[in-house]
Amino acid sequence: MSDAITSADSPAGSGLAQAGMRFASSEVDTTHGPILYLEGISVSFDGFKALNDLSLTIEDGELRCIIGPNGAGKTTMMDVITGKTRPDAGTAFFGQAIDLTRLTEAEIAHAGIGRKFQKPTVFEQHSVFENLELAMKTDKRVRRTLRARLDDADLDRIGETLSLIHLRDQADRIAGLLSHGQKQWLEIGMLLMQEPRLLLLDEPVAGMTDEESMRTAELCMTLAGRHSVVVVEHDMDFIARIARKVTVLHEGSVLAEGPMDVVQNDPRVIEVYLGR
Ligand code: ADP
Ligand code: MG
Repeated sequence: MSDAITSADSPAGSGLAQAGMRFASSEVDTTHGPILYLEGISVSFDGFKALNDLSLTIEDGELRCIIGPNGAGKTTMMDVITGKTRPDAGTAFFGQAIDLTRLTEAEIAHAGIGRKFQKPTVFEQHSVFENLELAMKTDKRVRRTLRARLDDADLDRIGETLSLIHLRDQADRIAGLLSHGQKQWLEIGMLLMQEPRLLLLDEPVAGMTDEESMRTAELCMTLAGRHSVVVVEHDMDFIARIARKVTVLHEGSVLAEGPMDVVQNDPRVIEVYLGR
């Protein structure tokens, strides 16, 4: 297994690392099953079970919201999916054939799982356009993208992404000058340039204005279907806006799962989370 090669210039944790590639995202096989399958996952930190026999399935193209109190294990779950943390027990598959517990973080990113951390990490000194271009250059079609000039298809993809993330009129702006919300969108755009099958968004609207938050809700709904999207968020107005199926985590496992109105009225969920 080869080690990750991370450019010193690369924003930390943005999934841009290149590595020895065993899978390409186009190979993820979901013909007979979900895009993500977690079963019996446990993670302990000094005897404390951050995840406790967690089982969760995400269908291809689904938009799933994950809620739950602080310390419920939401971020740890994302760490397991992205290979940052190894589970002590359990099964984690991406599609039918890719065993996530056997891959490095870089291999998982390359296989088609993109993760957006809470804090935006963009190349501050480059323009919005250049940020998207750089993200594309580290993608899997290395031979094609090593060419110095962008072809029409590349320009189309960048243009499409700029529209999607509401930054078309900011393309030439230095990323460091964007608002916090715009930086968050740019980072999502950078992930999209790598054409992930599964996108993990950890608290995407934290620190956003109401309007930015509303636009992020629209973006999430647009992305669903083209990608599978897992959103962890505390902002219940935001969740209510985008929610289809909602999973409530509590003490490292699934407490409840279902449509928003069912979950919201579940007495156990009100007790541990919503009621407080
Ligand atoms: P959430 O994202 O739902 O708020 P986390 O997954 O961040 O929850 O954390 C779950 C629990 O695991 C918390 O009690 C947290 O303190 C603990 N935890 C998370 N990461 C570590 C770590 N690296 N070392 C020790 N404890 C950790
Ligand atoms: Mg968290």
